[in-house]
Amino acid sequence: MSRTTSRPARLAAAALCAIVAVSCAEPPRDRADLVLGTVCSVRILDGGDRGALDAVFERLRGIEATMSANADGTVVAAINAGAGVAPVAAPDDVRYVLGKALSYSALSGGAFDPTIGPVVKLWNIGMDGERVPSPEEIAAALPLVDASAVAADDAAGTVFLRRAGMLLDLGAIAKGYAADEAARILLEHRVKAAVIDLGGNVKVVGKKPDGSPWRIGIQDPFDDRGARIGVAELEGGATVVTSGVYERYFIGDDGEHYHHILDPATGYPVRNGLASVTVISSSSIDADGLSTTLFSLGLERGMALVETLGHVEAVFIDEDKRVYLSSGAGAVFKLDNPAFALTPLPFP
Ligand code: FAD
Ligand code: MG
Repeated sequence: MSRTTSRPARLAAAALCAIVAVSCAEPPRDRADLVLGTVCSVRILDGGDRGALDAVFERLRGIEATMSANADGTVVAAINAGAGVAPVAAPDDVRYVLGKALSYSALSGGAFDPTIGPVVKLWNIGMDGERVPSPEEIAAALPLVDASAVAADDAAGTVFLRRAGMLLDLGAIAKGYAADEAARILLEHRVKAAVIDLGGNVKVVGKKPDGSPWRIGIQDPFDDRGARIGVAELEGGATVVTSGVYERYFIGDDGEHYHHILDPATGYPVRNGLASVTVISSSSIDADGLSTTLFSLGLERGMALVETLGHVEAVFIDEDKRVYLSSGAGAVFKLDNPAFALTPLPFP
């Protein structure tokens, strides 16, 4: 028997979950739709022309139609079909997102790897047919996970996976790119204040009409979507992105909890005591890439990496409800759920 969190019906019940305490000068204009495998919502609080929401959702569907690893006919599907055969034409946006993914792969020493596709497909977590693969299947898939065998050629406008059977999966970073694109389009359409929420990947645009900071809830990884551990108070342009064990998982026949962030070294879900990592930053593509990267690296290595980066803060939550903050996170994030404990780092 298996149980999953990621069916569209569950997602449909979860729109606008991360938005708290919003007040507005004019009636808000909202839209929520199922795109990118999740509920994507945009709430405009101030400004904007009539076409703003249409333009954003058209772009989100365009990104899905280009970057999905789950559908036929996308550029990513074509790149995957060309693995070991020939370079495939890939537009600038795909090469941009791939380039960012490869940079997080390098930064993490391979803990983040956009060629994790063959292992993702074996587990199928959150999709029909999710299951625990056999050790033999995992052993056969692991040699195909190799970011160093990706050749992106900007001059030719192509991407080539050098070995047959390799599969690109941009699921850990493309939603962040989509949030940045949504923000860009809203500003182009003269929106002055808006909240973008792509399945919990949140970006705020402009100034709230009442002048107060944006307040974005950070998800409690042990409770239903929308339950929070605390609130981040942010300026316009900020983004909050979380990676966690609760986003997609199933309970196997063995009673084990299997989640969707997979270790490229072992082919099994990452188990390092963390329940989630939230990144607060200004670039959503970076926050998305980083949240998965930091989760994969674990508390000690992940925190060390955050502290080398400017303008990025992180909130790590472990399985015992301990909360660890990067050095500047306390200035923007307030814990308000008494079940969780702010905890000093257990290392120097
Ligand atoms: P993140 O932590 O940001 O990413 C986790 C995801 O990244 C995993 O689900 C896996 O896909 C991949 N991954 C796992 N381990 C690693 C690793 N070590 N390094 C790098 N990447 C890793 N879902 C559907 O159910 N149906 C769809 O049709 C569908 N289409 C999508 C199309 C697009 C363009 C995108 C961006 C997503 C789509 N999704 C779809 C959702 C997707 O499959 C992922 O589950 C989702 O993007 C995970 O996002 P997250 O923020 O929860 O997790
Ligand atoms: Mg991510």
